[in-house]
Amino acid sequence: MKKYDERETLFSRLGLVVGTKEYHDFYKLHPDLKDLDDAYRGVDFRNQLRKDDDFKKLFFPIISNNKLFIKSLHQLVDDYSLKDKQTIKKSFSSNIKEITKYYGATNVGITKLDEYSYYSHSGGLSEAIGMDSYNKLISPTYKTAIVFTVKMDLEMINRAPHFEELMATEEAYLKVAQVGARLSVYLKSLGYDAFLNSSEIYLAPMVPLAYDAGLGEIGMSNHLVTLEHGDNIRLGAVFTNLELDLDSPVDFGLTEFCKHCALCLINCPSHSITHLTRMVNGRQFYKFNENSCFDLWAKAGTDCGVCIQSCPFTQGVDLEKVKKMKNNPEIMDELVKEHLDKHGRRKYIKNELDIIKREDDK
Ligand code: SF4
Ligand code: SF4
Repeated sequence: MKKYDERETLFSRLGLVVGTKEYHDFYKLHPDLKDLDDAYRGVDFRNQLRKDDDFKKLFFPIISNNKLFIKSLHQLVDDYSLKDKQTIKKSFSSNIKEITKYYGATNVGITKLDEYSYYSHSGGLSEAIGMDSYNKLISPTYKTAIVFTVKMDLEMINRAPHFEELMATEEAYLKVAQVGARLSVYLKSLGYDAFLNSSEIYLAPMVPLAYDAGLGEIGMSNHLVTLEHGDNIRLGAVFTNLELDLDSPVDFGLTEFCKHCALCLINCPSHSITHLTRMVNGRQFYKFNENSCFDLWAKAGTDCGVCIQSCPFTQGVDLEKVKKMKNNPEIMDELVKEHLDKHGRRKYIKNELDIIKREDDK
């Protein structure tokens, strides 16, 4: 078993400032990444969006302001003091899930946290919202994770890799923070400490937790793929020491289905997705080139999302057939064929949504 280290993630690396001790220490250990990271460091990739300056001035603040709200939500959770402890039985787990949905989650699962769930060190990603913590050792304080999904706007995702895709992802990150903040404050009001693991302040990576909590399987895209919304979701979690009933990973046959589908791999404009698998702490992931993926982002000025849009589960599949597809290659082929007949290799909608159409462009 190996601990994840947030300092090794791409956005943490790009946040390092040339010449600082942190910069030298990191690239002494990872010299192979230095040239590559230096090429992207400081690039305002969103500014590469192929839109005129007026568009950027008018529409970028719709999403860039989200960080202010996310920051205040984290602050609100931190500032809220614990109230008197209530007795909560494990059987209250189903209520907790329903309450999380009431707050806006699409689906909810519960899993345990062990020391390998957590990052070893913070990568300081929170610096972007003013809470720098680079290099901080992360201690595994909490034992239980309430993990949830929030679905993204499909109309927007189907415009990927254009600006609407960025709007969908940024909006979902804010919604994740809202749901998680409300749940965290709720738990604290019952006398149980809570940590909001979402949007820029993570003690643990989300995909393994969501897999363990039974919210979906890990697809060829390396994303969590859910039955109802594919990977058109964002993930969040609230950590607590409340003892709750735990969920288990699900197996609806996605690993085999991905071999019959591979649409994310076929459609990926930067050829970053592969069919080669790798095991990380007992979970199957796929080999993935995050550098070529980010190169595409940097050129397109969005975070692409074509892989999300390409997934049949994102566009909706016949769930009755999915129930029977495990160990049944004919049904898998049928599902892929149905998707291709309906949407083609990729459901891409070219025309802009009204929200970003200017009168002069019409
Ligand atoms: S975001 Fe785009 S470039 Fe990156 S893996 Fe997905 S499809 Fe490929
Ligand atoms: S697009 Fe196909 S191959 Fe990729 S994750 Fe979805 S189901 Fe798997």
